[in-house]
Amino acid sequence: MINRDYHTHTFYSHGKGTPEEIVLAAISMGLETVAISEHGPGHVFYGVRDKKLRMLRDEVDRLARRYAYKIQVLMGIECNLTGFGKCDLPEDIADMFDVRLLAFHKGAPAADLFGFRRNMEALHMWPSEPEKTALALLETGEKYKIDIFAHPGLYVKSHIPTLAKGAKELGIKLEINGARTTMSPEQMRQAVSAGAELIIGSDAHSPQRVGDDSLAYAAAQEAGVLSSVVNIK
Ligand SMILES: [Zn+2]
Ligand SMILES: [Zn+2]
Repeated sequence: MINRDYHTHTFYSHGKGTPEEIVLAAISMGLETVAISEHGPGHVFYGVRDKKLRMLRDEVDRLARRYAYKIQVLMGIECNLTGFGKCDLPEDIADMFDVRLLAFHKGAPAADLFGFRRNMEALHMWPSEPEKTALALLETGEKYKIDIFAHPGLYVKSHIPTLAKGAKELGIKLEINGARTTMSPEQMRQAVSAGAELIIGSDAHSPQRVGDDSLAYAAAQEAGVLSSVVNIK
């Protein structure tokens, strides 16, 4: 079982529950910490931006106070990689978030040629460039003080040994995603060999899935990397 879940979504983007339902689910799962980490503002369909983002921050603060005796509630964000060293986290509101995740998603406009090629790769219209993608994530991760690389390898390939080596230096964790498998057992072992820490995130889009680590835990167990997962009880 995990004790902290930094990757959950609500109806503010395309999830099903309210932030309070997410928090209550996290409490019933026995979690010590839960973060509401909505999609970054750059995503055309799911991005949470401007006023809504501030509303969510206020709501998270209220929930954090209301349930302080039971659980730690944090405000996260799942930023979209949009280019080489670029993501959709606006600098003026970067301080608003307690936890920052970074990942490539389909549906966020590219900020440069690298980003454009990744969007094409996701549509199977451009070859993958795993090494370059890993370096782009690292460059962006350093610049935007990212805590977690979410679902590495999803939609666009990333060279895990390169990503993990840099992640270790920057103190960024590699997520074992709870909703889908994005790293092979071999890649998880490569990550650990490179010295990176792993973290399980449920990527829950409904209260029912908060803290759900069944898929990720089994994958980590199969790969023999459980001892490198930082949020297991
Ligand atoms: Zn995601
Ligand atoms: Zn997510």
